[in-house]
Amino acid sequence: MDKTQAGGDDWQFDTLAVRAGTERTGFGEHTEAMFLTSSFVHDSAEHAAAKFAGEAGGFIYSRFGNPTVRLFENRLAALEGADECRATASGMSAIMSVLMSLTGSGDHVICAKGVFGTTIQLFGLFARYGIETSYVPVSDPDAWAAAVRPNTRLLFLETPSNPSTEIGDLGALAAIAQRHGIPLVVDNCFCTPALQRPLELGADIVVHSATKHLDGQGRVLGGAVLGSHKYMSETLQPVLRYCGPTLSAFNAWLLAKGLETLSIRMQRHSESALAVARWLLEQPGVERVRYPWLASHPQHALARTQQRAGGAVLAFDLAGDDDAQRRANAWRVVDACRLLSITANLGDVKSTITHPASTTHGRMAVQARAEAGIGEGMLRVAVGLEDPADICADLARGLRDRAPT
Ligand SMILES: *Cc1c(COP(=O)(O)O)cnc(C)c1O
Repeated sequence: MDKTQAGGDDWQFDTLAVRAGTERTGFGEHTEAMFLTSSFVHDSAEHAAAKFAGEAGGFIYSRFGNPTVRLFENRLAALEGADECRATASGMSAIMSVLMSLTGSGDHVICAKGVFGTTIQLFGLFARYGIETSYVPVSDPDAWAAAVRPNTRLLFLETPSNPSTEIGDLGALAAIAQRHGIPLVVDNCFCTPALQRPLELGADIVVHSATKHLDGQGRVLGGAVLGSHKYMSETLQPVLRYCGPTLSAFNAWLLAKGLETLSIRMQRHSESALAVARWLLEQPGVERVRYPWLASHPQHALARTQQRAGGAVLAFDLAGDDDAQRRANAWRVVDACRLLSITANLGDVKSTITHPASTTHGRMAVQARAEAGIGEGMLRVAVGLEDPADICADLARGLRDRAPT
């Protein structure tokens, strides 16, 4: 392979997004090649032995190494400013692999309240293997510090949180993690490195659901873990190699091409989401709008120190006399949509709307849901790349027809 395209250290973000990680074959293809092969051949018995012993480089088997997967990994690592990246089959398998790599029976994990619902279910599964999780408010660093125990092995959060868009202070949490010698793990799915680079703000490990903005068009599942060379090679790699939560080369190719347009997509998602959030503020029956780039967001100032823009996701709360009426009003808005898709996915060019309390966060205990700020009147919109005026018009229909209060 011709490695002259592998990347310049001085390239800017947008250039890295298009160029980093490219390794051209002898055919001179301009767009990146896709390697759909499960295994790789060796020159001789001796060569095979050297590769298996780790004495010679080169690919062996796609469960733990493939050129197209490496393209995606190296490109994303360049964008996050990480030493290394390892791709996984999904966002959940990325989080699972990090947990498996850092914890064992008798250990303890601290996780933010208001993370992706399935992440909470995953931590619940790990209780079976003797790993206990404490949940703390994402925006209260003192609560994180107070929750640390001698057997705590990692701190885990998303910022902005899902779906309530609370901001975790990455600098403050990194200081706590460092004081105790444990890694701070950030799920950077909502912002992507185009808007926020957690490793620069003190985080140790970044995880992604590449299914969302990294693909950007709702086509494939994928995930990624990013961090130091030492963590990747010594701690994570055995889990990936022996458990096999491997990203397919086909998906890796799509995801690598998705990264090429990430920056301009995230800019437009953010501009449109801000326009929709501002419009929602003016609508009758809307009690509250949550979006980090609104001046009214309680952590707007902190968000501006960590993020370049607000991202695609906003949440708003509909008024009602009681929970039943709040839910009815929220469902009416969902059911009146003709443009917005009723689906829990996000990070797509197509805008989506969900009622978290009855879908993504429906399996959470009622108390935990309330503590995460997810009420019956809350709706989450992931703003896509349609014209924001059409998105507002779609929401207006259901807001107009809401039940009398
Ligand atoms: C979707 C999502 C995940 C899980 O990713 P999958 O690719 O669906 O497994 C994890 N974290 C966040 C924030 C997500 O939105």
